Amino acid sequence: MIYLDNAATTPLCEEAAKEQVFWACSNFYNPSATYIEAVKVSQALKEARERLKAIFGAKEGDIIFTSGATEANNLAVRGSCREGKAEYVFSSVEHASVNNLATQLINEGKEIKFVKTQKNGEIDYEDLQKQLNEKVRLVSCMFVNNVTGVINDIAKISKIVRQYAPKALFHVDGVQAFCKLPFKLSALDVDLFSISAHKFHGPKGVGALFVNNLAKLKPLVYGGGQEAGLRSGTENVAGIMAMVKAAESVDITKNYEKVLKLRNAFLKEINMEGLTIVKAENQSPYILTILCKGVNGETMVRMLENEVIVGRGSACSAKKAGNHVLEAMGYRQDLIKGAIRISFDASLSESDVLKAAKIIKQKYAELVEKLK
Ligand code: PMP
Repeated sequence: MIYLDNAATTPLCEEAAKEQVFWACSNFYNPSATYIEAVKVSQALKEARERLKAIFGAKEGDIIFTSGATEANNLAVRGSCREGKAEYVFSSVEHASVNNLATQLINEGKEIKFVKTQKNGEIDYEDLQKQLNEKVRLVSCMFVNNVTGVINDIAKISKIVRQYAPKALFHVDGVQAFCKLPFKLSALDVDLFSISAHKFHGPKGVGALFVNNLAKLKPLVYGGGQEAGLRSGTENVAGIMAMVKAAESVDITKNYEKVLKLRNAFLKEINMEGLTIVKAENQSPYILTILCKGVNGETMVRMLENEVIVGRGSACSAKKAGNHVLEAMGYRQDLIKGAIRISFDASLSESDVLKAAKIIKQKYAELVEKLK
C-alpha cells in the first residue's frame, strides 16, 4: 500500500509516540497542581512553548496550545472579533475551519469581506489592498493551500496589511506550511499563526496558535484560566509534548529537497492525456491536485484504495472536495469533478511514487474504458 494522503494526516513518529507515553504514564500530573511533580510538568510545558517558538523562528510572542488547527483558527478569528463597526477580511479559498466561521460571522451580522483569488491560486494582492481600511480588525489568509499546494506570499501580505489596515491583526493558517516549508516567523510579521500536530507526524487532536500579543485576543471558552486565560481546560500534556518532539524530529530543509525530487519524478511519470496537473509558480512540493477528465474523483479514490491511497481536495470536507479553490483558479466544473489530491511525505521512496503514478494511470485508463 502506498499512502499519498499526507496532507490529510500522517502517522505518529516513533520519537513522538515514546514522548507521549512518557508524559501520559509516568509524568501524568496536572500542571495546575502545586506539588513538586506537578510543578515539573508545568515547567516542561513552559519549556515546550520556547522549543516550539524556536522551530517557528519567532523571537517574541506566545504559544497557546489547542486541540488542533480548527480550534486554533477559531480562537484566532473569533477571539479577534469585537462589538461595533469592525470589518473582517478573508481570502476566498480558506480551509473550512476559517471559511465556515466567516459564514457564521456574516449570519451574526458582522461585516465580512472576501478577497479575490488570482488565476495562479494566490490571493489577489491588489484586491486585498482595496478591501483594507482603518476599520479592519482582522485579516486571515492561509500560507499553503491544502487543495492546490499554492503558496501565498505572507511577507508581502503582512506589508500590505500594516500599510492599509494599521489596526488589523493578521492571522495565517500555517497548517500545510509548518515543518514543511523553511521559513522564519520573525521575518513574516504575522500576529497569529495556526498549526496542527498530526500533519507533521505528531498526534491528532493537538495544535497550537502562535500569538504575538495575548492582550489582543479574547477566549472562546472560560474556566480555570489555563493557557494565559485564552484556552481554559487541563492541558493535553502528553499530546503537547509529543507534538513538540515531532516538530523537533523533522529536518525541514532535507525533507523539502527530498519531497521536491519525489514530486518531480512523479510528475514525469504521471504524464498522460486526460490528466491535468494543477500547477502554479509558487507551490509546495508536498501537495498536488490532478484533474481526471471524464471521471469522478471519488470513483478514482475508491478504485485506487487497495494499492494507492490518495485524497480528494480536503479530507475535512471531502464531500465538497475543495471545489471552491479549483473554481477560483478558473478550472471547469467537469474537470473539477475528477479531482484527486496527492500529498507526499519524505518517508516515501522514488520507486513508491513512480509505482503509484503508474497505478493511477492504469486505473484511470480502465475507468475511462468502462465508461465508454
Ligand atoms: N487548516 C488547514 C489548511 C488544514 O489542512 C487543516 C486539516 N485538514 C486544518 C486547518 C484543520 O486542522 P485540524 O485537523 O487540526 O483541526
